[in-house]
Amino acid sequence: MKELKSYKYIIAGAGLFGATVAERLASQGHQVLVIDRRNHLAGNVYSYTDPATKIEVHKYGSHIFHTEMDEVWDYITRFTEFNDYVHTVNTRHNGRLYPMPINLDTINLLYGTDMDAPTAEKFVAEEAAKEGITDPQNFEEKGLSLVGRKLYEAFLKNYTAKQWSTDPKNLSASILSRIPVRFSHDNRYFITAKHQGIPKAGYTKIVENMLKNDLIDTKLNIDIKTIISDIPADTTIIYCGQIDELLDYELGVLPYRSLRFEQEVTTKTLGEAVINEADANIPYTRTHDYKYYQSHQPEVVNQPQSILCREYPADFQKGDEAYYPVNNDESEALYQQYVALAKEKYPNLILGGRLGAYRYWDMDLAIKNALDLASKLLS
Ligand SMILES: Cc1cc2nc3c(=O)[nH]c(=O)nc-3n(C[C@H](O)[C@H](O)[C@H](O)COP(=O)(O)OP(=O)(O)OC[C@H]3O[C@@H](n4cnc5c(N)ncnc54)[C@H](O)[C@@H]3O)c2cc1C
Repeated sequence: MKELKSYKYIIAGAGLFGATVAERLASQGHQVLVIDRRNHLAGNVYSYTDPATKIEVHKYGSHIFHTEMDEVWDYITRFTEFNDYVHTVNTRHNGRLYPMPINLDTINLLYGTDMDAPTAEKFVAEEAAKEGITDPQNFEEKGLSLVGRKLYEAFLKNYTAKQWSTDPKNLSASILSRIPVRFSHDNRYFITAKHQGIPKAGYTKIVENMLKNDLIDTKLNIDIKTIISDIPADTTIIYCGQIDELLDYELGVLPYRSLRFEQEVTTKTLGEAVINEADANIPYTRTHDYKYYQSHQPEVVNQPQSILCREYPADFQKGDEAYYPVNNDESEALYQQYVALAKEKYPNLILGGRLGAYRYWDMDLAIKNALDLASKLLS
């Protein structure tokens, strides 16, 4: 690593956000240092090939790339080729599988009917109206008012309770603006995605390719906190980590939800990439069978072995992996106080990425925000 003063930009976080900003800045002749405290590149999209089965394991949870933004697709496809995987999800309820999001088949299977689309639409509206809820006060009331009791209790109630480790009656109605119900047989999960797929060479390779520029130096296993006081004032720091952590939790801990993954190499298979578990007696929310993402490699999909990964929602404690920000008025106010404090303490620091922005961003939004930041810095 060169002396810190030789870099115009130092980026803490080698995820998609940090890598995109680094690639753009270096493409315009700037010297950039990218560090990450983990021992690998790619942040939460990191994946690796299991040597025995050749199955690509998504270490921090299944990732399916999808976007409606041509700008993002045109950019990311410079660094990878995607396969033709189209995501679909089934949910298990009382031992039976139902398409998710709820569609015409889900409704007919649950009610044992054979309704056509207009009849089903009218039926669900009547079921919802039966609840008589006009001003929902919590998540449960909102769910009931949108789809009625049977659909709510089958697919939302217990799944949501597991996700948040609490009764949905304790959750705000605002979490649930709508429930996507499709009165058609379309079972694509990302119905509006113009582009989707899985990178043929894995996610980590995308980031490796992005950082392949002589003007970019990359160092792993370094926490920005250990070098931040040595960074010159005229070097811009782009920090993609948690702001409360950087500032030693001076104002308190920002709330997150976490996850725990349990992995098993087995000859059992799901027969598809993911199954959601809607019932309370199964403590995890999803099982992933990673090999089904490799639609471009039939020899991997058709082998007898699978790597199954069960996903358990978990309460977040300081120091855990922060997966989902808990965005509400209170946490937003605390975040804004941290933003102000960061400005005061580190005037040369820009917050970026999903953690720095304290937002849930899909991969395409992380890239879009990074492209926008790079344009701003270069203008
Ligand atoms: C379970 C799960 C599933 C998801 N599935 C999908 C999906 O299917 N499709 C989709 O589009 N999106 C998905 N996402 C979202 C996706 O993971 C994010 O959009 C993406 O990871 C954001 O990239 P990032 O660079 O902003 O953050 P990250 O990938 O989190 O990168 C931040 C990096 O900063 C590093 N860092 C933090 N603090 C420091 C420090 N102090 N010093 C040095 N380095 C530091 C971290 O180690 C990390 O590598 C999913 C998210 C989750 C939680």
